[in-house]
Amino acid sequence: MKKTKYIFVTGGVVSSLGKGIIAASLAKLLQSRGFSVTIQKLDPYINIDPGTLNPYEHGECFVTDDGAETDLDLGHYERFLNSPTSQANNITTGRIYQSVIEKERRGDYLGETVQIIPHITDEIKYRIRLLSEHHNYDFVITEIGGTVGDIESLPYIEAVRQMRYEMSETCLVIHLTLVPYIAAAGELKTKPTQHSVKTLLEQGLQPDVLVCRTERPLNEAMKNKIAQFCNVHSDAVIEAIDADTIYNVPLLIKNEKLDEVVLKKLKLPFNQKHDLEKWEAFLHRLKNPKHEINIGLVGKYAELQDAYKSILESIIHAGSENECKVNVKLIHSEVVTPLNVEEVLKNLNGIIVAPGFGERGIEGKITSIKFVRENKIPFLGICLGMQCAVIEFGRNVLGFTNAHSTEINPQTPFPVIDLMKEQKKVSCKGGTMRLGAYFCEIDAGSKVSKIYNNTLIKERHRHRYEFNNKYLTEYMKKGMLAVGINPDSKLVEIIELKNHPWFIGVQFHPEYKSTVAQPHPLFVDFIKNSIALRKKA
Ligand code: GLN
Repeated sequence: MKKTKYIFVTGGVVSSLGKGIIAASLAKLLQSRGFSVTIQKLDPYINIDPGTLNPYEHGECFVTDDGAETDLDLGHYERFLNSPTSQANNITTGRIYQSVIEKERRGDYLGETVQIIPHITDEIKYRIRLLSEHHNYDFVITEIGGTVGDIESLPYIEAVRQMRYEMSETCLVIHLTLVPYIAAAGELKTKPTQHSVKTLLEQGLQPDVLVCRTERPLNEAMKNKIAQFCNVHSDAVIEAIDADTIYNVPLLIKNEKLDEVVLKKLKLPFNQKHDLEKWEAFLHRLKNPKHEINIGLVGKYAELQDAYKSILESIIHAGSENECKVNVKLIHSEVVTPLNVEEVLKNLNGIIVAPGFGERGIEGKITSIKFVRENKIPFLGICLGMQCAVIEFGRNVLGFTNAHSTEINPQTPFPVIDLMKEQKKVSCKGGTMRLGAYFCEIDAGSKVSKIYNNTLIKERHRHRYEFNNKYLTEYMKKGMLAVGINPDSKLVEIIELKNHPWFIGVQFHPEYKSTVAQPHPLFVDFIKNSIALRKKA
């Protein structure tokens, strides 16, 4: 059995420096040299998982195959590495405390006073090691959420300090900081980095590598200065300059030799060649598009890119695959009305209606769908987006006045979207939706089966409500076809319209499975058709 190496990524100075992207980029470089790598995120909040968080707090909630509701950084890990993560890849303080308290109640610590050190820190260390115990990775990269100096990250930093003390030759600490450019002085400033490292040192942790986010190149003198003040080698001061796309970051930090420094410090061979051919080809296509289209993303969080992170990234993957620059217009569903819909959606070559919960903005989504259905504009409805397509078709084609989802209108005369039986008994909000990967059987004669080139697929879910099978025959008769069915529960997972060039709704979330190496077929085909139909116009 090989010995797993542990790399910790901490952050200093300010939040939003992109620890997740740096962790994913380093992982990509190590993977491209033939190592097996996984990435884990430790989140210092008390929620058990981000499933109950509003997207305004933490952006999108990413869902794994095993049904874990996780931080959106796990999406980046999967998109970069093209390998699935699981619940074990995202741990929160809430989960740590929950399991320590459960152990205390069970009597596992009988007689002891249960304390942050050692009990909470032991639980953190256990969760870090657990990943490699099951899979025996060469590297586990653990990203510590938050910023050094926050009260809530202290137990994590302490756990890392202990792990490093116990197994120094297998652990490495990378600290991500900011080197701001002060326009008035015309200079980059290293003081925030010095202070941030000092804070880390006060907590007993000396970083091995400093990754410095900057908008301007760091020169040698600057690197030497940071090295001297922060007690690291100057070749371990890595510049992370602002990138035009996150997918360029692995190449930028490869030029800075971040992975080589890591391998040398961990006394591993560093002469293997990188296999980044496919990655570079992806980037090349992304940067040299042959087509250009405009796609509208209709949702209630239009001001908040992070709320739709995976959808936006899936569009980028599909754009590159089609050698197409895709301009995404985020459309606030609340502002769309029957009077302005034509104006708002004009010049768009395709429309995606986003997932979501609750009533806000729902009529705008339904109105947008009516417009694209009638005007034969390519449409992809995801989760709530599919449910809205079913409601719209019910109301406007089948004549089901006031048809609705019982999530929004429990009294609707036509509950075309309704709670499934098992969900009716559920009262707890956390982790109780239909979550994770489920099989779906696709009708061999459908458009979707050609798109997937398959009739049995597995996709990830996150919802409580479902298509109400009571109305299935009427929908089928009028041309809204249920072409994807869950083989066990018989729930409708995919609908497509017969008399429309590209109108597909999915109850699952294809965006969680699109990666750089494997762009999702639904997004790829949606973009392909949005290009093709635009040309005809
Ligand atoms: N609110 C809907 C449900 O719970 C859709 C959820 C979603 O779009 N993820 O079924």
